[in-house]
Amino acid sequence: MQIYWTKINQIIEETPDVKTYLLDRPEGFEWEEGSHTHMALEGFNAGEKPNRSLIRHMSISTLPHENSIGITTRIREQCSEFKSILRNLTVGDEVAIFKTHSNVPLKREGKNVYLLSSGVGLATFRPLVLDFFNREEGVNRIHSLNVDSSNAFLFPDVFEPAPDRKFTSRFVDNRNDYYEEVKDLAADKEGLFYVVGSDEFLKQNIEVLRGEGIRPDQIMLDKREGQLPEFLQVDLTV
Ligand SMILES: Cc1cc2nc3c(=O)[nH]c(=O)nc-3n(C[C@H](O)[C@H](O)[C@H](O)COP(=O)(O)OP(=O)(O)OC[C@H]3O[C@@H](n4cnc5c(N)ncnc54)[C@H](O)[C@@H]3O)c2cc1C
Repeated sequence: MQIYWTKINQIIEETPDVKTYLLDRPEGFEWEEGSHTHMALEGFNAGEKPNRSLIRHMSISTLPHENSIGITTRIREQCSEFKSILRNLTVGDEVAIFKTHSNVPLKREGKNVYLLSSGVGLATFRPLVLDFFNREEGVNRIHSLNVDSSNAFLFPDVFEPAPDRKFTSRFVDNRNDYYEEVKDLAADKEGLFYVVGSDEFLKQNIEVLRGEGIRPDQIMLDKREGQLPEFLQVDLTV
């Protein structure tokens, strides 16, 4: 396993409690849209075993052509050791990244794509939307729906509706409006539904989508293949 130590080159205050850390792109570091990586802080591998409290999974919110690795995260006042250290890092400080993989690349199967997310889950989808803007081939259109109770929505420049580019987007600040819209979107019985958020959020979305007749193979989750059955169990009873 290759560990890349890299420097923070910019910190963007997206909203009062969400920051994007832009990291230098190390030589040979590649990724595709929908990727997540392991981000680790100084000292994580100092002992015999890696110190898990200094490591977190993080999506990469940028694309390689932007030439920086973007990590977008919410840091609340009450936060973990990992986030309280991260909060105090500044430009020039180093972090480690390793084990990078995409579970949710943009499928180019001629379908409509629905990106359903909660809060900073939108970070996972930013590169999918940019990838679509770069190349529309094989994707009919994309619609993003994000729910964030803080009412401070992320990446307004990218997630601005652009109907002429076959991209629409909506932000809502409560779960009722959110699930009403998910039901409306599920009227598209051949659409592809990507869902990113907490496990509880995934389970609720799957329940609503399945209730509307969406099949498990139309639902994309940011989970390893081995974890999918826990969420998308196919009912084998006839
Ligand atoms: C594939 C994948 C991709 C991911 N991508 C991202 C991503 O792009 N961005 C991202 O932010 N996360 C991402 N995550 C989740 C990430 O790995 C962390 O689990 C998440 O950010 C929570 O971080 P944390 O454990 O450091 O807790 P925190 O965010 O610090 O805390 C979690 C919750 O616990 C509360 N809390 C924490 N400590 C205390 C305390 N001492 N007292 C009281 N309350 C407390 C906080 O208020 C908060 O509500 C991803 C996970 C996976 C599996």
